[in-house]
Amino acid sequence: MPSFATSPGTRDIIAPDAARWRSFQQVFADVVEAAGFAHIIPPMFEDLGVFLRVGETTEIVTKEMYDFEDKGGRRVALRPEQTASVCRAFVEHRPVTPWKVWYAGPNFRYEKPQQGRYRQFDQVGVEVLGVDDPQLDAEVIALAVEFYRRLGLRGVQLSLNSLGDSGDRDRYAAVLLAHFSTHRDALSAESRATLERNPLRVLDSKRPEDAALIAAAPRMADQLSEAAASHFVAVQSALLAGGVGFVVNDRLVRGLDYYRRTTFEFVSTSLVAAHTAIGGGGRYDGLVAELGGPDTPGIGFALGLDRTLLACDAEGVFGAPAARVEVFVVDATGGSEAGAVCTELRRAGIGTDRAYDDRSMKAQMKSADRAGARLAIIIGDDERSAKTAIIRTMEGGSQQTVQRDALVTHVRQALGR
Ligand code: AMP
Repeated sequence: MPSFATSPGTRDIIAPDAARWRSFQQVFADVVEAAGFAHIIPPMFEDLGVFLRVGETTEIVTKEMYDFEDKGGRRVALRPEQTASVCRAFVEHRPVTPWKVWYAGPNFRYEKPQQGRYRQFDQVGVEVLGVDDPQLDAEVIALAVEFYRRLGLRGVQLSLNSLGDSGDRDRYAAVLLAHFSTHRDALSAESRATLERNPLRVLDSKRPEDAALIAAAPRMADQLSEAAASHFVAVQSALLAGGVGFVVNDRLVRGLDYYRRTTFEFVSTSLVAAHTAIGGGGRYDGLVAELGGPDTPGIGFALGLDRTLLACDAEGVFGAPAARVEVFVVDATGGSEAGAVCTELRRAGIGTDRAYDDRSMKAQMKSADRAGARLAIIIGDDERSAKTAIIRTMEGGSQQTVQRDALVTHVRQALGR
């Protein structure tokens, strides 16, 4: 028989991590719903064209997309990110603005798998469409900061930049192209290949041979239009007023071509491996129009769940939630009692589990321990005939015999409820 394992870059998320993922998403929902964001669940695949709008010079689109022709002959792709889907949804549904939505779920990119980099990875994120007020940029950033705080993370650094409007960006790209072209031979082979396609991405290179040329490269700040420059100043003032710390990094370009004006990235100082970026975002004022909608400003962020949890591990925060099973029924009558007791306790809202196959008392007590139960309810032949049950605290081992028909009340008391 063939045996199978998960495909490269994918993982099974099993206990106790799976519950941790859910609470991660729940904490995120709590933070952003309290700020007026509504949940959106876009489909996991869309017409390829939706993602091509993300940028035809973006690696995520050109090299990493899971695109294929479906059985109906449509060119579709698994989503590599969700901003484009949200903008497509905006164009399709034309909701009232500002449209504030949040999402959580997997994305797919054909990347080289390694720790913190997967082919299927999860993100949580928000998008706001229809507002270009710099106050909003600061508020969106502050939400992410608040979320990290709720997780308990302390080592998170915020980098901030402005990529200007599309004219500024094009001008900057031309200036950069000229700068790097004059020193072409000194660039790494990878950067030479990137240069013609997207000179801004060369700034992202981490290769040592590119470092000096990048340091000497012209600055985006010198290319910003007056409007974009004053927007950027206003975002910074609003962040400072809100007590959000940041560093301006004018080499921050980010992987997606649609960014305009404000861009930002969160880096974990607790992760030592190469992948320390745990989230990022920015404005994408031209994207809705690219997707056939009215000219609409937009801003949002996506935070990587997988990597953020690695940062939580590194800081020893946001562990797996406690087990939901509080009571374990140990049935020494051959199994005839456990079913009814489970039903009664579960109906009363008490997390309860049991063993099967008439296992020994000792084995059942071991299972109770493994389940993380606080109490064991023990019923043997004597208790069955006397219509009683023994409640035993797992920690300490004290026990009491109670009437079967008052079991729920006694269990509640023993649990301190
Ligand atoms: P991006 O959508 O590329 O702006 O990425 C936003 C965040 O998603 C990053 O900061 C990472 O935390 C996370 N992320 C992106 N790509 C991957 C990946 N292949 N595996 C795990 N996390 C990822």
